[in-house]
Amino acid sequence: MTEAKSIQLQQLVPPTLNVIIAHAEELTRLDQAIGDGDHGINMKRGAEKILQELPAICDKPAGEALKAMGMALVMSVGGASGPLFGTLLMEMGKSLGARAMDKDILAECFAAGVEAVKKRGRSDVEQKTMLDVLVPALEVLQGKETGTELYTRLKETVAASETRTIAMKALKGRASYLGERSIGHMDPGARSCGLAIREICNVLEDAQNE
Ligand code: ADP
Ligand code: MG
Repeated sequence: MTEAKSIQLQQLVPPTLNVIIAHAEELTRLDQAIGDGDHGINMKRGAEKILQELPAICDKPAGEALKAMGMALVMSVGGASGPLFGTLLMEMGKSLGARAMDKDILAECFAAGVEAVKKRGRSDVEQKTMLDVLVPALEVLQGKETGTELYTRLKETVAASETRTIAMKALKGRASYLGERSIGHMDPGARSCGLAIREICNVLEDAQNE
């Protein structure tokens, strides 16, 4: 674990989680429309749990830190989203192992995480879930862009992908119970992913421009 790595996590994680916490009411409203109205509370609880454990988490190598954050979500968040976001982070951590992160390695780890979410959720794209933001983001990450171009593409892609879920019919999770009536509302999990990915891009972009 290098000094720089732990500073990076400390710079990256709190603003990202604070954006989620600040949007808890909006996430709850989205989940009230097509679910059981707990997504904001779930995400806020998970975010606060990670923030609480952050000093200990940041002492770990990056791979272990990702696993610990995923575990904190699995342990603290009820609902479908806790285990799914937890799986995403834990698998990313496993895939990273002891390596130092760079863009290509991040793409590899993110791919492993997304694959694990699909498996755990028995889900895929076009079913109006978090995967409808995670997969397009992964595809951008696997592309050629780097630096500012990458961040711009990622931010545009996740925004468009969140919006695309509005017109989709939910085929997985609680929203699927609504059938056609799930059409016309943004998927809360997709929105959470969009918020988190955009903030991560903002922080990395700011750090690059410093
Ligand atoms: P719950 O649905 O148990 O109340 P949350 O409200 O916290 O849990 O999370 C709902 C979100 O979880 C949905 O908006 C969707 O994005 C995501 N989700 C639910 N089921 C699945 C699944 N099988 N695969 C992928 N994502 C899912
Ligand atoms: Mg819910």
